[in-house]
Amino acid sequence: MQITEIYKSLQGESTYAGLPCVFVRLTACNLRCSWCDSEYTFTGGKKMASEDVLAEVEKLSPERGLVEITGGEPMLQERELVPLMQTLLDLGHTVLIETSGERPLERVPKGVVKIVDVKCPDSGAADSFRMENLDALSSQDEVKFVLSSRRDYEFARDFVAEQQLDRKIHAVLFSPAFNKTAKGSRNTTHCLLDPRELAEWILEDGVPVRLGLQLHKFIWDPALKGV
Ligand code: SF4
Repeated sequence: MQITEIYKSLQGESTYAGLPCVFVRLTACNLRCSWCDSEYTFTGGKKMASEDVLAEVEKLSPERGLVEITGGEPMLQERELVPLMQTLLDLGHTVLIETSGERPLERVPKGVVKIVDVKCPDSGAADSFRMENLDALSSQDEVKFVLSSRRDYEFARDFVAEQQLDRKIHAVLFSPAFNKTAKGSRNTTHCLLDPRELAEWILEDGVPVRLGLQLHKFIWDPALKGV
């Protein structure tokens, strides 16, 4: 497998935010979101056998806790990733996969919590979501909309309503996009959409979603990698 990094930190997003987590970040992505903060994963990385990835995870999480598979787009390496995720589950880890929603998700092992993006118009990857993936979602899964404008918000709000998404899955997350070149200060001025404005829209429209901030960008320098 081509791996960018494996490290332990706090989970920054989703309903698992705040929990210690080992991150396995796979190299490469087939999308190019305008606000992507993971461009360093597009190329490079190092080739690792699945057994070596597993050994590294076990070293960082001997208690067999939370593991997130992320990228880049991890499902581009589906052939090796699917058996690895199953092994992690079998060992007793709680496994999350964070994915763009563009790749087929049917073969993700049952038991893995899928955190799936639906890309909004101003991401630059509009219409990349594979609608068939809605059938692969279960009550433990989460769908995330990263928003950078009112247009994105309205798209996400209407998508949730049309698909009755909140009734099918564990959580729907609305998260303001973060300026990818932000560094230094740890505050909401780096958000491309003001969280307060987003909160007001959600309350005004009564949208059944959870507002999420990227916790790690408020704990550490937003430019820091490997956290
Ligand atoms: S899908 Fe994720 S890794 Fe790929 S370009 Fe978009 S934000 Fe970046």
